Order: sequence, then structure tokens, then C-alpha cells
Amino acid sequence: MTDDDIQKKIADLEAELVQARAQTQSMGQLLENKLNEIYIHYHISRTISSVLDIQEMLLQIAGIIKKTIPFERMSLYLVGENRDTLELSYFSGLDIKQKIILDRGAGTPGGIVESGEHLHIHDLAAFYELFDDFIHFPDEQKNGGSYIGIALKVHDTTIGAIGMDTSRQFGLSVDDMDFMAILSHQIAAGIEKSRLFEKIQGLSQRDGLTGLYNHRMFEEKLQMEINRRKRTRYPLSLIMLDIDFFKQYNDTYGHQAGDSVLKELAEIIEGQSRSDSTDMCCRYGGEEFAMIMPELELHNAVKVAERLRVAVEGHAFSMDENKNQGRVTISLGVSGISDAHDITPEEFVKKADQALYLSKRNGRNRVSYSP
Ligand code: GH3
Ligand code: MG
Ligand code: MG
Repeated sequence: MTDDDIQKKIADLEAELVQARAQTQSMGQLLENKLNEIYIHYHISRTISSVLDIQEMLLQIAGIIKKTIPFERMSLYLVGENRDTLELSYFSGLDIKQKIILDRGAGTPGGIVESGEHLHIHDLAAFYELFDDFIHFPDEQKNGGSYIGIALKVHDTTIGAIGMDTSRQFGLSVDDMDFMAILSHQIAAGIEKSRLFEKIQGLSQRDGLTGLYNHRMFEEKLQMEINRRKRTRYPLSLIMLDIDFFKQYNDTYGHQAGDSVLKELAEIIEGQSRSDSTDMCCRYGGEEFAMIMPELELHNAVKVAERLRVAVEGHAFSMDENKNQGRVTISLGVSGISDAHDITPEEFVKKADQALYLSKRNGRNRVSYSP
């Protein structure tokens, strides 16, 4: 063997070594990717089985996915219960204050829901030139980058769409889309489970006839607000009210007309509550209702009670299909805590109840209060 032969042999061996090393590396990479995928599947299924709150679940899932897919922003649109709308139910990576509800077919999420197809766009800038409909969020700046849209399906029904984008062209790949497509079944099933849970929970918290919170929720909320007050020292007010001579109304016009009064009264009560705050309207029992009003001084709660009394007095309640002329009045009792004194929920309710009793005794259709 000549020197040249030996040199060539060494060069060949070196080349083989380089190739073998590259193969090992890519095997290692493949293995690492597979492990990563298993890790993600495992963590997502754990999250889905242990977290019931839908927002919390989606937050955790987004965090897990972020470990392998380099998205900057994520949106999740879900088809509304009426099947006509798409609601932005979760988002990350940007600041949105208002509720976003779109027509079912609107924009890219709408297209994904309608077609049930996943979507990958490696260069958004080119895409914008073809479609002027928005890509991801309404009113957004069209800055370019890449995008993945995933249809969420339960059986054959598309329940929503996940959108992910990054400001880098080719930042999100077809592989990323394929991986998300695999995860999408798990995520969709998790969302369905949470929604069902919320629905059942909602039903168990509400009174069937009026839709207001039931007695159990009243007690929970009152206890919670009294505890919170111990820390914050915010005022807390409570209105209790009872329909006047309701037995007579039932006896005269029938039980069904009585039920209509309860339903419409509940609407009037809700209309007087501050819908943007933590007020809670409850059906306390039969024809008695309660309003828990956190952060409201007694004298302001008395004003609310008086407005409510006047509204009910002036309302024509439904009696049957043709007549809208049922008349009832209500008596109200208000209690409030505003200074440093502590009180139990039972004592607080008793004070409002005593004020209510005073209203009855003094002739009904009036407001009394107990400081
Ligand atoms: P007062 O002015 O003293 O409150 O007199 P009242 O007749 O309203 O009081 P009472 O406690 O004697 O009667 C309450 C009535 O409320 C009796 C009951 O038939 C009626 N009621 C309670 N729950 C319901 C309901 O779900 N539907 C209907 N239609 N009536 C109900
Ligand atoms: Mg009563
Ligand atoms: Mg009554």
C-alpha cells in the first residue's frame, strides 16, 4: 500500500465518520422531537383532565404548546350556542379589552370553521394582498409574518378555530401545523367537557323559573362578601323584598299568572342591578327576592330599593295572551354595613328581614331600612 493509498483510506474513513456522526445527530434530534411530542401530549391530557375552568385550561395549554411552537400570538374562537356567531374565547400575546363576537363566517377563523380545514400561511404579507379580510384579530395591524389556523372538531362538527401567528416569515412551519392538528382533537374534547361542566354548574346555581341565583348561591355569595369586607372594609348592602298579597293574586288570577309575575319581577330586579359590578340578584324563596350589593353605601341601596318599588308599582304584568294588566306591589327591607363593625351573614339577613317586616306592618308597598 502506497502512502497515497493510505491517505485516501484515511480520507474515506473520515468522511464515513462525519456521515455517521450526522446520522447520530439527526437520530438524536428525531428522538428529542418525539420525546417532546410525548411530553406535550401527556401534559395537555393532564391539564384537560384536571382543570375544569375553560380560561385556566386554555392558558395552561397555550403555555405547554409554546415550549415547541414559536408562536407570538394565539387566538381561540368558539362557535356560539346559537351556531351563528364566533366568539373570541381566549387570546394571548396582545391586549384586547372588549368582547369580540363575529359572524360565523367572518375572517380567517370563520373560513376555518366553515371549511373545517387547517391552514398554514408562511408569508402573511403576500396573503394580505390576496385577501383583505382580517387574518387573526379584528382591527389589527397587518405586519406580515406566518400563521397557522387549526379547526377544532368534536366528531364531525367544527366547534371553533385556533389561530397562531409570529412576525417572522416561515416562523411557523407545516410541521408545526401538522403537530397542532394532532393535538386539536384533544383540545376540542377538553373544551367541550369544560363547556358542559359550566352549563351544568350554571343550571345548579340558578332558579328554574326566574333564572336568578338560587338560595344556595345567595348564602355562598353573602358569606364571601362578608369575608371580603373584613379585609377591604368596603360597604356592603342587602335588599330583601316580598310581593304584597301574592296569595290573593294567585287565588284571583291563577298560579300561571302568578308565575308570570315572578318572572317579570326578576327581570325588573336585574334591570335595577349594576350589571357591570358584582351585584347579585337571587330568588330567596317563593315570592321573596334578595339583592346583594357590594361596595354600595346603605343610603344608596335605599335609593335602589325605592326605584325598584316604583318600577314594580308601575309595571303591567302579563296575565294571559291578551291582557297585560296584572298589578302587584312589593315591600322592601334594606340593611347595610359600612363602618368597622363585623356581622355574621345570619345577623345581616335578619336586619334586612326586620326592615321588610316593618314595611309590611306599616302598610306595604314601601321601603324600610336598618343601619
Ligand atoms: P304579604 O303581603 O303579607 O306578603 O302576603 P302574601 O299573600 O304575599 O304572603 P303569603 O306568605 O301568605 O303568601 C305567599 C304566596 O306566594 C303563597 C304562594 O302561593 C305564593 N307563591 C310562592 N311561590 C310561588 C310560585 O313559585 N309561583 C306562584 N304562582 N306562587 C307562589
Ligand atoms: Mg313571603
Ligand atoms: Mg308576600
